[in-house]
Amino acid sequence: MSKVKQLKITFLGTGTSTGVPMITSTHPVSLSDNPKDKRLRSSIMISWDETTYIIDSGPDFRQQMIRENVQAIEGILFTHEHSDHIAGFDDIRPFSFRMGEVPIYLTERVLHALEKRYDYIFATENRYPGAAKVKTNIISKHSTLNFKGVKVVPVEVMHGNLPVLGFRFNNFAYLTDIKTISLEEKTKLSNLDTIVVTGLRKEEHSTHFNIEEALEFIKELNPKKAYLTHISELLGFHDEVEKELPENVHLAYDGLSIISE
Ligand SMILES: [Zn+2]
Ligand SMILES: [Zn+2]
Repeated sequence: MSKVKQLKITFLGTGTSTGVPMITSTHPVSLSDNPKDKRLRSSIMISWDETTYIIDSGPDFRQQMIRENVQAIEGILFTHEHSDHIAGFDDIRPFSFRMGEVPIYLTERVLHALEKRYDYIFATENRYPGAAKVKTNIISKHSTLNFKGVKVVPVEVMHGNLPVLGFRFNNFAYLTDIKTISLEEKTKLSNLDTIVVTGLRKEEHSTHFNIEEALEFIKELNPKKAYLTHISELLGFHDEVEKELPENVHLAYDGLSIISE
């Protein structure tokens, strides 16, 4: 049997759309001095051998790439078009200067949203010479990708009424901005080593898992371990919430790196 590759997952950001601290907030978590309570917008980096993929390029992308000293990437996969997941797209330029076209993987709908907001990047005539260059790869929930020996399967989840892609890389899965999932898509999540899933806050939310829904979902899928992300200040202090979680479930925090199969 061939050995399953070890994937290194780095949490670039673990905050909800506003980030934590939130502008104007006087909530105690937003005022916390604990670095684990400071959360940039949600994104992860998945690396193995000399290969690195990023999921989403939110508004904190530049800061995240500099903090993690990322020198090269093989591509960016997009979950959906909300600003907290794409608003740093223009900051892929330095990668484009070094490597030319940056491969992006996204659904047709998310591509149209990017084309609207970043028309100059997708322009074919009179292009501004400094604009980023991308190589577009349209994917859907029916795609199966192979990234240098790692099988990548998009998993569609529902973010209220909006379909969003999560991604399974071998036995690791990342599902952000999830409220519900169909039975069919759930079958793609069997035998996971590690899952990362949204655990927004304690109270219910119309388009995101709260912590109770996240824990129920994790229990049902029964991965070896799980991490919660896309976290609001309303969830509470990192160190306190962490103590209340089941043994194999943790709160992610910015800069955390884990190994998964
Ligand atoms: Zn989001
Ligand atoms: Zn969203």
